[in-house]
Amino acid sequence: MSHLSEIDSQYIAHTYARFPVEIESGKGSLLKGFDGKTYIDMGSGIAVNSFGAADDVWIAAVTAQLGKIQHTSNLYYTEPCAKLAEMLCMRTGMKKVFFGNSGAEANECAIKAARKYAAEKKGPAYSTIVTLENSFHGRTLTTLAATGQEHYHELFQPLTPGFVHTPANDFEALVQTCEAQPTAAVLLECIQGEGGVIPLTDEFVAQTAAYCKEKDILLMIDEVQTGNGRTGKLYAYMHYGIQPDVVSTAKGIGGGLPLGICMLGEKVQDVFQPGDHGSTFGGNPICCAGALSVLERLDEAFLNEVSAKSAWIFSALEGAPGVKAVTGKGLMIGILTEKPAGEVLKACMENGVLCLTAKDKVRLLPPLNTPMELLEQAVSVILEACKEGL
Ligand SMILES: *Cc1c(COP(=O)(O)O)cnc(C)c1O
Repeated sequence: MSHLSEIDSQYIAHTYARFPVEIESGKGSLLKGFDGKTYIDMGSGIAVNSFGAADDVWIAAVTAQLGKIQHTSNLYYTEPCAKLAEMLCMRTGMKKVFFGNSGAEANECAIKAARKYAAEKKGPAYSTIVTLENSFHGRTLTTLAATGQEHYHELFQPLTPGFVHTPANDFEALVQTCEAQPTAAVLLECIQGEGGVIPLTDEFVAQTAAYCKEKDILLMIDEVQTGNGRTGKLYAYMHYGIQPDVVSTAKGIGGGLPLGICMLGEKVQDVFQPGDHGSTFGGNPICCAGALSVLERLDEAFLNEVSAKSAWIFSALEGAPGVKAVTGKGLMIGILTEKPAGEVLKACMENGVLCLTAKDKVRLLPPLNTPMELLEQAVSVILEACKEGL
């Protein structure tokens, strides 16, 4: 291939192992390569393009704002960011939001909120953030420290201190960890995404929430991947009947434009004062206008469709030849295959379906509005790839 991959390998830092696919354009859940090949998109740019490629409603919202004002700085008020913040709070019960540009930044804000809250309430020693083993919270030095996977840490020491990791779904261990040092907050993903699409158990989440409440330890949920309709609820924590103190999100909320959001609940709503935190691009009107249009469409009826599509995919995959297990919720699905996940992914790609992997699993994160017939086509390609040559 070609020209693009040559320029890329010469001039772009080699942080990504890219696949040999050069995407020219797309519409909905179909992507087109420069070579004319068409793919069904089962990754949506890693849970970002919530309504697929070049969605008409989203384009209209974004371009309308582009024609008004693209950026103002945070010295002035703008309409899309105010409306988006209001709608997010109305739909989550959270009280205030901070806008940044990425998942990592949303988590940085959560961590700063927790440190400041705990320092003021209990004293500066209460700085520890407890996260789970096998978690993923981002690539900045602080969110890497939060990430409970050693192999991401090795080359970048020293990381921000004050993070400890405890095994997922082990409440006793979590209590021990929180008691072993003065703890400000627990930060967790309801379904570990990069870690292999592993949901936390209802019991663990409920016990953790009750414990955090009792000890005035903040419960912070990383909804960067699980959020914004991905799991069939607006946010994944809503499956568990809990009300977190802090929720971070990014990826799918912008529908394809960069936007990170840290939502602050009752306890921490006033923790930040002018000067404590900021971001030049945070709350950018274009990104917020796109996000507002995404959020408006994630209504009850639409979320029920996500769940129905999910149920169909689970039933088609579970117990199929070459499929050992299916995990996840909504349209965030992990498939443990008998063959190595990378081989299945490659066979799917050759047959026009773009999947992802997460650890040892094939991972599906299709656009939330993918029509049933495309899901059926994609799943039949995936099933064939799982059993072929076994
Ligand atoms: C992707 C991801 C992040 C990091 O988001 P970026 O936008 O890449 O900074 C953080 N947490 C979770 C759970 C993620 O899936």
